[in-house]
Order: sequence, then structure tokens, then C-alpha cells
Amino acid sequence: AELADLRIELDGIKVTGKDVPKPVQRWSQCALSRRTLDIIGSLGFDKPTPIQMQAFPAIMSGRDVVGVAKTGSGKTLAFLLPMFRHIKDQAPLKENDGPIGLIMTPTRELATQIHRDCKPFLKSMDLRAVCAYGGAPIKDHIAELKRGAEIVVCTPGRMIDLLAANQGRVTNLKRVSYVVLDEADRMFDMGFEPQVMKIFANMRPDRQTILFSATMPRIMDSLAKKVLNSPVEITVGGKSV
Ligand code: ADP
Ligand code: MG
Repeated sequence: AELADLRIELDGIKVTGKDVPKPVQRWSQCALSRRTLDIIGSLGFDKPTPIQMQAFPAIMSGRDVVGVAKTGSGKTLAFLLPMFRHIKDQAPLKENDGPIGLIMTPTRELATQIHRDCKPFLKSMDLRAVCAYGGAPIKDHIAELKRGAEIVVCTPGRMIDLLAANQGRVTNLKRVSYVVLDEADRMFDMGFEPQVMKIFANMRPDRQTILFSATMPRIMDSLAKKVLNSPVEITVGGKSV
């Protein structure tokens, strides 16, 4: 308890949950590959941000995580780096396999931004990422998925359409074992909960699930309970509702 209090004073990190891994202070504590460390260095990210300090070890230990921190606090890297690691630990994709990592976010702009944030890492990790959102031709997304991708970044509506396309032969979520709901509060506000729940129904129950949000209004508690398993809950900078 004393350590937890100290952490709050140092970085504004509040954390709850069973057996929470200790936060890291430096990238060198994160068990990242040399190449990944080099890329992070070249991006100019000297040390993890507070949400990264606590979310990183929690996610790396395999836990479900709820992370609440304001816009601009570095939530994207907090879920991307552990996702790359997770995917590299799985058997390679075989023909017709769907993605291993799935990131859902409410808007085309957010999906595009996350996809862009993946890019510096994809080549050295030998991973492929598809970005799929409404308002773009679905045939383009279908073609990209057919070529195979370990990662899909999408809006919920487009994923529902892709699952239904060509009698369900375009993609499947059977191999998804790492899921992120990013900007979950906006997803909720925009009424995406039914689509999100439908997508979760297509995934294995032993997946790892990560929920990131700028705010955590009470109304989202039931959604969180339904999709997360014994999560570590991390709040940076006070609880905003
Ligand atoms: P959020 O999702 O919390 O709104 P982002 O993940 O988009 O925030 O990150 C905000 C900005 O901070 C981005 O430009 C990102 O590249 C940068 N950033 C991420 N991690 C770090 C870090 N450890 N050090 C410095 N800048 C970082
Ligand atoms: Mg974000």
C-alpha cells in the first residue's frame, strides 16, 4: 500500500486490481528487442509516459487492463508494443487465418492514426496491419485481408460488414487473442456497443482484452464487466467521468 501511495505522488498513477505488476520507469525494463528500442529512440521517446509505465508491465504479464488517461498521454504505444510482442509469441499465420491482434476504435481518423503509429515497427517485426473503416470501398479492405495480416485496426461497423462479406469467407476472428477497445468512451457515446458485443461474440473467450479511454463514465461499467476478465485498472491524473 505504501508503494502504491508513493506511485500516486510520483506520477499521478492510481492502480487497482489483484496482483498488479510493478510499474516500470525506463524502456530498458520493458523486455523490448534491440530493434524496437532503437525505433523508440529514433522517435524521440526518451522514457515511458505514466500510463505506459503501469499499463506496459500489466499488459505484458497477460492481464486484461482498463487504462484511463487524458488525450495525448501516450495510450497508443501502451497497447501497441505489448501487442507486437504478443503476436510474435504466437504461431505464424497460415493461409486463411484471420488476425491475431484486433484494435477497435470509433472513427476513421482514429483508426488511421493508430495504423500510422504501427508503421515504424511493422517491417522489423515482419508484421502486417490492415486499417478498415466505413466510407472507404469495402473491396479494398477485403483484398488486403485476403493477403493476410496479423493486425487489424478497424471501426466496429466496418468489422461487422467484413465478417458478413462473401458468406463469411473474407476474414474470421478465431485467432484473435489480443483485443483493444480504444477511445471506449467515444465508442459508447456513438452507440457502438451492440456492434462491439457482436464482434466479441466471434472471439475466443481466453483472449486478452484491453480497454483504453480518456474517461470512464459509470455507464460503461457493464460493458467493461462483460468483456474484461479480472482487469488491472489504471487511472492517470485523477478519475474523470
Ligand atoms: P492518447 O492516445 O493517449 O491520446 P497518443 O498515444 O496518441 O495519446 O500519444 C500522444 C503523442 O505522444 C503522440 O504524438 C505520440 O507519438 C507521443 N508519445 C507517445 N509515447 C511517448 C513517450 N513515451 N514519450 C514521448 N512522446 C510520446
Ligand atoms: Mg488515443
